[in-house]
Amino acid sequence: MEINVDFLVSGCNTQCKHCYVNGGPGPLMRTDDALACIEKLDQIAAFFPNSMSFTLDHEPMNHPEIGMILDAASHTKHITNFHHGMTTGLGLMARGDREAVIQAYLENGYIEFGITLHGVSAHHDEIVNRKGAFEKAVAAARFLSQMGCTVQISLMVNRFFAEDADQISRLIDDVKADDIYFAIPIFTPHANMMRFEPYRATLETFEAILCYLPRWNQNAEEILEKARENSVGMAEKRLESMDLQSLWKEEQDTLYLSLHQDCMLYVGNSGVETQVIGDLRELAPEMVADVIRNLPGNSDYGAFYDIANLPSMANTLEAVKALPRNLVYGDFASILYRAFADLDIPTKLLSKI
Ligand code: SF4
Repeated sequence: MEINVDFLVSGCNTQCKHCYVNGGPGPLMRTDDALACIEKLDQIAAFFPNSMSFTLDHEPMNHPEIGMILDAASHTKHITNFHHGMTTGLGLMARGDREAVIQAYLENGYIEFGITLHGVSAHHDEIVNRKGAFEKAVAAARFLSQMGCTVQISLMVNRFFAEDADQISRLIDDVKADDIYFAIPIFTPHANMMRFEPYRATLETFEAILCYLPRWNQNAEEILEKARENSVGMAEKRLESMDLQSLWKEEQDTLYLSLHQDCMLYVGNSGVETQVIGDLRELAPEMVADVIRNLPGNSDYGAFYDIANLPSMANTLEAVKALPRNLVYGDFASILYRAFADLDIPTKLLSKI
């Protein structure tokens, strides 16, 4: 089983409406704690050869001593640091030492960075809940490109895309990103997620942007097909011939843990934690390895709900049918979670939904 630790050394500068990872400004992890935790995780990883990684998540560029942390992260023996490189640009562009920060990333082998667009100007700012965020994200993309980094743009579709498509195209041409990704937000049983629902793209949004997709390096037919497959209308059809019980019991091959700024280690990705393991600084590596060995994977389905609490097939189908049929989600599981939110199904999550 793959094991990933969501390692949070600092908070995020935005509070995106679709965020299930509790984005938002958070405290900083002390540098000595961060270095001690990297070392401890490396000792734990020795019990799981080639299976353990961590991600410096949220906005590590907010940490004043990020260079030192990156250096430690890239010199571990048993654990790999997965660098997703996504940034809001707000922390980076506010730093007077931004060249040195990016230089530290480059020297440690991290060359890829990305910004996410949720539309242009005020639309982007509305989704991420921060005025001026669009401008900073674009400025960061240009700055990273000038520094010799590979720059990616992730287009996180929502209803604004139909109106903003022309300007998005012009921006893509202007920034000259090396790669462009296209993503449909998922839904997890986290309280924040309902804030995004009024913005969720519909099948009509996809039809409106179809002619722009080739310009955004996307295969229009594939994207439209994926949107149809993950629409509420299609989920209704799938449910009619599905054995939900076996879906919940499906084995999952990834275990997510999260390490917060106070060094508390949790089971579950950031924002969807289900169990406290303890203060990593004080835990023996053998003990944590034993706990991990006995945990099931938690990437989906049964990770968030006790099977005993799940509604019957008839109630699930009824709740899915009550949703607008044209809404499009990142995956089928998201549609079920969205329906369960209306049914008020209790979850295993530590935070209240
Ligand atoms: S989605 Fe990412 S950028 Fe947005 S608030 Fe959450 S962690 Fe921050």
